[in-house]
Amino acid sequence: MAKLELQNLQKKYSAHLMPVRDVSLSVEDGEFLSLLGPSGCGKSTLLRLIAGLENPTQGRIVIGGKTVNQLPPGDRNVAMVFQSYALYPHLSAADNIASALKIRRFPSAEIDQRVLETAQKLKLIDGIKNCLPSKPGELSGGQRQRVALARALVRQPEVFLLDEPLSNLDALLREQVRSELKQIFQAQNKPVVYVTHDQTEAMTLSTRLAVLYNGLVQQLAPPHRIYSHPANQFVAGFVGSPQMNLLPLDCQGDTAILGTFRLRLAQLDTLPEHVVMGIRPEDIRLAQREEANAIATQVFLIEELGKEKLLSVRIQGTELTLRVLLSAEHTLEGETVYWELPDEKIHWFRWDGVRDPDCQQPLDRRDRLNL
Ligand code: ADP
Ligand code: MG
Repeated sequence: MAKLELQNLQKKYSAHLMPVRDVSLSVEDGEFLSLLGPSGCGKSTLLRLIAGLENPTQGRIVIGGKTVNQLPPGDRNVAMVFQSYALYPHLSAADNIASALKIRRFPSAEIDQRVLETAQKLKLIDGIKNCLPSKPGELSGGQRQRVALARALVRQPEVFLLDEPLSNLDALLREQVRSELKQIFQAQNKPVVYVTHDQTEAMTLSTRLAVLYNGLVQQLAPPHRIYSHPANQFVAGFVGSPQMNLLPLDCQGDTAILGTFRLRLAQLDTLPEHVVMGIRPEDIRLAQREEANAIATQVFLIEELGKEKLLSVRIQGTELTLRVLLSAEHTLEGETVYWELPDEKIHWFRWDGVRDPDCQQPLDRRDRLNL
C-alpha cells in the first residue's frame, strides 16, 4: 500500500465554493509529487487537508495504511513547509529547527546532533558562517527558507508537504535552492507532496505531476508525459512556455479545415464537427514555398528571447494566428513565411464549437482525441 493515499477527497466551504471536488491519488516512498495549477485552484487546501489543518467534507486520507481523518495535525507525523516560512520570530534558528523535537520530548543530546546535521546539509553552517544563533529577523529570505526546510527535515516525518516554498526567493536563488531541494529529498526516501504554480519547478523536481484545475486532477503522470501527451486542452495550454498554439477548427468528413489548408484526421468512430488543433511553438518548422504541406503566413510580431526568437504569424486566408519559436540566427526574407506543421507533433482535442472554450466548456468536452 502507498505511504500516502487520498480517496475521493472533497472540501466544500459553501454551495458555490468547493476548491477540492473529488481527488484520489497515492504517493509512494521516495516519490516527489507536485500539485501544479493556477492560483486559487485548491492546491493549498489539498495540502492543508493532508496535514490536518482542515477537515474534508468527504473522502479519506490514509498515511502508512492508517486512516488519519480523525487525527489532529500533531499526531499525523507529517511535516509541512509554508511559503511564508512561519518561523517563531523570538527564537534562534537553532531553536526554530528544534521546536518540533522539543514538543515531542526528544533527549537534548539527540536534538543537538540532529539540528547540527540538518543545518550542515542545508548550508546554514558552512565554513566559518553559522546561522544557528541568529533570529529569523537577522537572516536573509533564503536563509529563513532554509531554516523552515531544516525544521521539516529534522523531524524525519512519514510524509513531507511543501507549499510554494521557493516563491518568496528571487529568481537566481530559487534556481539554486531548487536543485538543492531535489538532492535533499532524493536522499530522504519519503513521499513528498509539493505545491507550486510554477511549471518549471514542477517539471524539474517531480517524479510525477498532478495538474489541478476546478478542484479536480486533470492529469497525473510523469512530467515528460504531461508535456508530450496532455490529457485535455487545459493541461495543453497550462504546461509549456511559450504556450501551445490551440486553434479551433471546423471539420468536414475526416478533414480539419485551416484556411485553404486541409489536415486529415485518421479515422475515428464518430468524427467530431469541430476540433482544436494544438501545436507547440518549438514544433513548427520553417518550410519552402514549394513544399506540399507548406502553410503561408504573414509575420506581425517578432520577440527576441536571446537564444531564440518568438514569431507571431497570421495564417493566410484566416483570422488564426500561430506563435513559432525559431533559433535566433534565422533571418526571414519576404513578407510571406511558410511553415510545416509536422503530423506527429499535432495534438487534437475534442471541442463542441462554443467559441469561448475557456469559459464555457466543461473540460470533459475538451479531451484529447487519440488518433
Ligand atoms: P491555491 O493554493 O491553489 O492558490 P487555495 O487552496 O488557497 O488555492 O484556495 C482555493 C479556493 O478556496 C480559493 O477560492 C480560496 O479563496 C478558497 N478558500 C481557501 N481557504 C478558505 C477558507 N478557509 N474559507 C473559505 N474559502 C477558502
Ligand atoms: Mg496556495
